[in-house]
Amino acid sequence: MEFFKQMSVSTKTESTGNIQNSSEHVKCLIIGSGPAGYTAAIYASRANLKPLLYEGLEPGGQLTTTTEVDNFPGYPEGITGPAMMEDLKKQAERFGADIRFGIATKVDFNKLPHKVWIDDDKLIEADAVIIATGATAKYLGLESEEKFKGSGVSACATCDGFFYKGQDVAVVGGGDTACEEASYLAGICKKVYLIVRKDFLRASKAMQERVYKTKNIEVLFQHTPKEIIGDTSGVNGVILTKAKGENVTILITGFFVAIGHQPNSDIFKPFIETDETGYIKTIPGCSKTNIEGVFACGDVQDKHYRQAITAAGSGCIAAIDAERYLSEP
Ligand code: NDP
Repeated sequence: MEFFKQMSVSTKTESTGNIQNSSEHVKCLIIGSGPAGYTAAIYASRANLKPLLYEGLEPGGQLTTTTEVDNFPGYPEGITGPAMMEDLKKQAERFGADIRFGIATKVDFNKLPHKVWIDDDKLIEADAVIIATGATAKYLGLESEEKFKGSGVSACATCDGFFYKGQDVAVVGGGDTACEEASYLAGICKKVYLIVRKDFLRASKAMQERVYKTKNIEVLFQHTPKEIIGDTSGVNGVILTKAKGENVTILITGFFVAIGHQPNSDIFKPFIETDETGYIKTIPGCSKTNIEGVFACGDVQDKHYRQAITAAGSGCIAAIDAERYLSEP
């Protein structure tokens, strides 16, 4: 095991007055620690790339904010999000991945080796970089929303819908995600309220039709959530404000926020091509970006599926792509 602990990194430390700016050179740097980053680390370490992974602002990623995960293959009894992320991390460490706490704050992908600064002052030079920084679900910003996160408030129907089987729930948003989440929940729950702030849905026509055709979805146009109400057992309702200002309360036990995600791609944008909403563009069928030696996986490049298992799968793809790239003559 000791063999795996000896990472083949070359380290330099330059002293400038009181500030120590150190730099390291690695074969493979992974930025981000959700299922995509950890899976990339498992595959990259097993391929002897001796990966260095920086965990980022939220070690373990979005899954650490959910409770039970019942849809990841291999866990017949289910598992909590944080426990699963801990398992993935340990599995990567078992094969020698060097996993550290730190946030990538700046990159320079102009020439090889690629440069990534951690916490503003530590420089990592890498022959290959795997971006797995994920996306952050947007929330409404209500105090009550924060209070009930994980006990009635969720940003993922596929992850948490099952807990509200046969109950009444609400979804906020008028885009494709909200319509998709509402349709999914309609198959599990008794009734689904779709709360839309405008007087129309922004979602594609096909998605709108699906919503309108589903008998147990009621669309509440021009309604805005004001406060989520509940007690120690969780959510039991939401107060909505109508266009003319009057309030109405609906009784629900699950409150799903589907008002969009923000891909965590800002620091890469000067070099890496993204779509108009900030998702990193990868070459279809692989994880390659427009920059040689830079690969992307997980939610930072996927706005359609956003599942732990799809992120993990794409992390595997990125590590294999990096390994093949690094072994090219
Ligand atoms: P969108 O940005 O398309 O829609 C967000 C929705 O949330 C809008 O209706 C918006 O309202 C509403 N909203 C935003 N902020 C608030 C707020 N504070 N209070 C109340 N409502 C709010 O995000 P999506 O996640 O739906 O979609 C993102 C992208 O992914 C789109 O391009 C979409 O087409 C795509 N996608 C495709 C899917 C598919 O093809 N199967 C599935 C899911 C997504 P308003 O309209 O008033 O701005």
